[in-house]
Amino acid sequence: MFRDGARKSMWQAEIKRYGTVFSEDLRYDVVIIGGGITGVSTAHRLQLSGLNCLLLEAKNLGFGTTGGTTAHLNDFFDTTFKEAIGKFGLDNACLLVDAGKEAMRVFHSNVTQHSVDCDFEEKTAELFAVDEDQVSQLEDIVDGAKQVGYQMHYTDRIDFPIPFRKAVRIPGQAQFHPIKYIRALAEVFIENGGAVVENCLCESHEESEEGVLLHTSLGEVRAKHAVFATHTPPGISLLHFTTAPYRSYVIAFSLKGNSYPSTLGYDLYDSYHYYRTHQIDGKKMVIADGEDHKTGHTGDAGACFSRLEDHCRQQFDVDRVEYAWSSQYFEPADGLPSIGVLPSSEGRVFVATGFRGNGMTFGTLSSAIITDLINEGSSRYEALFNPKRFRPTAGFTTFIKENATVLKDMIGDKIGMERIRSLAEIGAGEAKVIRHEGRSYAVFAEQDGELHVLRSTCPHAKCEVRWNNAELSWDCPCHGSRFNVNGQILNGPTTTGLERIE
Ligand SMILES: Cc1cc2nc3c(=O)[nH]c(=O)nc-3n(C[C@H](O)[C@H](O)[C@H](O)COP(=O)(O)OP(=O)(O)OC[C@H]3O[C@@H](n4cnc5c(N)ncnc54)[C@H](O)[C@@H]3O)c2cc1C
Repeated sequence: MFRDGARKSMWQAEIKRYGTVFSEDLRYDVVIIGGGITGVSTAHRLQLSGLNCLLLEAKNLGFGTTGGTTAHLNDFFDTTFKEAIGKFGLDNACLLVDAGKEAMRVFHSNVTQHSVDCDFEEKTAELFAVDEDQVSQLEDIVDGAKQVGYQMHYTDRIDFPIPFRKAVRIPGQAQFHPIKYIRALAEVFIENGGAVVENCLCESHEESEEGVLLHTSLGEVRAKHAVFATHTPPGISLLHFTTAPYRSYVIAFSLKGNSYPSTLGYDLYDSYHYYRTHQIDGKKMVIADGEDHKTGHTGDAGACFSRLEDHCRQQFDVDRVEYAWSSQYFEPADGLPSIGVLPSSEGRVFVATGFRGNGMTFGTLSSAIITDLINEGSSRYEALFNPKRFRPTAGFTTFIKENATVLKDMIGDKIGMERIRSLAEIGAGEAKVIRHEGRSYAVFAEQDGELHVLRSTCPHAKCEVRWNNAELSWDCPCHGSRFNVNGQILNGPTTTGLERIE
């Protein structure tokens, strides 16, 4: 298994394994924790700036959401420019435009400078409204874009067989193969003296005037600085209260004819669907994404795939669904990512999280911001994305709603848990969280009857895990930690697995 779920993504055949040994005697300039697009891009940029870096990854490069993304590269975001103007003011919304353009420049320069073969293609994006509600949303989006000087043009045709009321075209976007990209950057990083260590979980860290000491599953590492590029920081952080975990579903399918769309397409449903074409081993496929929900908040994750497939079959002449997988992202309460000094840090530990569905862009941007913060001591985007910025005014309602849900989940699951007299009550293929003789367990019975019994309380913040029948995982609805049926960690913020009961 090379990713954080039981289903195969269309990218993971390109995953390559690296070493699992490091020297405890060495002291690095920077240790970067997390081998997704954020960690690899940051390690690459810091090493090329002349620093001596170590990249640590709990499993393998691309194990997290970067291995389950859809890899659209956009400089417009899930948080629209109109929303950004409303929450942060016109000047900051203009800075957000610059941030997007800078990420595109950094990405483009990485690809051209190192001749990276990652199926990179520049594309036009098409945003389309399919009903009257969406028309007014689209008009708002265009109005916000106009105010910040970002180009969007109305169009009367789109490259998708989807009936629409109104649409815009946005030039200068892109798509690529995420694993080929991070693998190529990792290789440049290594060629330039950087070290990659996989199967190394960072369990905790201590910061002092001498630097940062990381306690990992393979031993201790010392560095002047550390960067948590772990999608959400491990341990307990303020950022777990200002970001919430969501799941999103992807299918990749072939068409009966050869009318594959040549643009990137987005409707305006909540949650929205988005589409693009990618060719793997000579086979063209449309990639479609949608059906998002808060992690642990669906009784039947498998049904999300069925709904997404039904939706696609209504729009496209689908031949065969070749891949179906899901993955996780983090929604920030005020709509903008957190990139900079970790809230609990005195200035030597950095973090990048809360990317919504724009982590290809914000992960790339993080590499530039964090490199500037470490080398120059400042970045022009420092205040906009400051992880400590959280102000009650921008996103306060979302903050209250998300944390009320966490509390409700935490208490409700403990009260509502099923009580059983014997484990034999759990049928083949069934999974349940149960209370038995005063303790709670997560139990999964394989088809052949073999039982996997785990303690069901997430070690991170003591919520009860819930079953994900699509990825065969136990997911924590509070902060997004996930575990496989053996209790091993799939996603943080936990740094401890679920105890297995033999
Ligand atoms: C279905 C889906 C589709 C998406 N599509 C797009 C898209 O088209 N365009 C876009 O811009 N964004 C998209 N996103 C968002 C984007 O994919 C993510 O924001 C991005 O991949 C996050 O990258 P990352 O490197 O920060 O985190 P990850 O890729 O999750 O990497 C974090 C890594 O850290 C490791 N790790 C975690 N904890 C520890 C620890 N304690 N010690 C050591 N290692 C650890 C993990 O194993 C993991 O490999 C999508 C998201 C989803 C869910």
